Amino acid sequence: MSEDQGEFECFDNTLSDNVVCPYCGYEDQDICEYDHSETHITSCNRCCKEFMLEPSISVHFSSWKVPCVNGEGEHKFKNLFTSVYHKTEPRHPWRCTNCNKEEWRDNPDYVKPE
Ligand SMILES: [Zn+2]
Ligand SMILES: [Zn+2]
Repeated sequence: MSEDQGEFECFDNTLSDNVVCPYCGYEDQDICEYDHSETHITSCNRCCKEFMLEPSISVHFSSWKVPCVNGEGEHKFKNLFTSVYHKTEPRHPWRCTNCNKEEWRDNPDYVKPE
């Protein structure tokens, strides 16, 4: 099959991670250049044909146990403040890395700014 025959293979380009040209199968890794919000016409960087591009955003779920919410364990609080604010803020926000619960705690190392 020669290049200028005018007939192209049908490429399976549904739900690809990259933008794949439906004409020549060229896979464009540089997907940041494309509009991710709506279906639009774009052109292939290799064969220069125009084609429709429909962005498809997939949702992934992760799940984990939260014993601190179910009364089976302690919260795992982590101080959200960086060391920059460490001594000059009287109270620090802490967040549980399991359930995202936040609470403000007194800073034991608080130093009053002059
Ligand atoms: Zn192409
Ligand atoms: Zn928690």
